[in-house]
Amino acid sequence: MAGKNFYGILGVKKDASDKEIKQAYRRLARKYHPDVNPGDKSAEATFKEINAAYEVLSDKKNRRKYDKYGDKWQYADQFEQAAQQQSQYRQYSPGGGASYHFGGDIGGLDSIFEELFGGARTRGFHRRAQPRRGQDLESPIEVTLEEAYSGTSRTISLQMEEPCSACKGGGMIQNLPCSACRGAGVVANIKRLEVKIPAGVATGSRVRIAGKGQPGYSGGTSGDLYLKIRVRPHPKFERHGDNLHVNVPVPLATAVLGGEVQVPTPRGKLALKIPPETQNGRAFRLTGQGMPHPGKSARGDLLAKVNVVLPTKLSDEEKELFRQLSEIRPA
Ligand SMILES: [Zn+2]
Repeated sequence: MAGKNFYGILGVKKDASDKEIKQAYRRLARKYHPDVNPGDKSAEATFKEINAAYEVLSDKKNRRKYDKYGDKWQYADQFEQAAQQQSQYRQYSPGGGASYHFGGDIGGLDSIFEELFGGARTRGFHRRAQPRRGQDLESPIEVTLEEAYSGTSRTISLQMEEPCSACKGGGMIQNLPCSACRGAGVVANIKRLEVKIPAGVATGSRVRIAGKGQPGYSGGTSGDLYLKIRVRPHPKFERHGDNLHVNVPVPLATAVLGGEVQVPTPRGKLALKIPPETQNGRAFRLTGQGMPHPGKSARGDLLAKVNVVLPTKLSDEEKELFRQLSEIRPA
């Protein structure tokens, strides 16, 4: 039926009056009625065509739509809605957007129809009007203190919206909501991405990765990705801002006589000379050995706190020496 001219089917002119259309229909319906032509398939088909043509042309509203849009007349409302949106769009986007002609030229409609319902563009016409920035995404990331100290990278999985391939993002197929995306025009897709985590991040840091959020709509820019950092607590190091605190076990003799001790840092050990008679609990500041600060060259300090370790499991000889010592220096 599609493509056949209803006026031609009824054998009337395009400007025929309602009365002329009615008369033509009655004449043809009598001629091709199945009762008059039993078993004649072609007469039956013609009869159906005549009825379909009359149904449209006898209705004022439908006839007007048919005159304007031809065999796409059923989509008239959508065409007009789209044209209206399009003209609104032009108001705030001078020169932008396609120009549509909804005139009486039926032949030119195919391309419009294709554009509106065939998904020739990446997004459906009901969204295309306003370019929209994609949503920001947030991804929680947990790192060790060592990783925060040196900087690291992670491969993360993100659930991204992508234009539906079935409807090419239009959301509609043949004027029906797309079944693949349920008319949304987008589908969720898991995307893997390698991200860099700069040195110096702390719990609560938000690392921005520009343009890696959800894609924009209708030519809008992509959103950003934010890495929400948590630094796991460390069994040895305590962090206070950019400074690190660490306990350093020091043998009694070294604390008393002075000497060298090994201070742990997040990337290995450092030798530290301690003076004689170093008291338990004294902290030594190792300047610039603390955490880096993102975007700054200066680093925090490492505070090494002396933790004097008293000897255990003393031999008889050692006990004797401590006894002698206590006699020389009574408390
Ligand atoms: Zn779809």
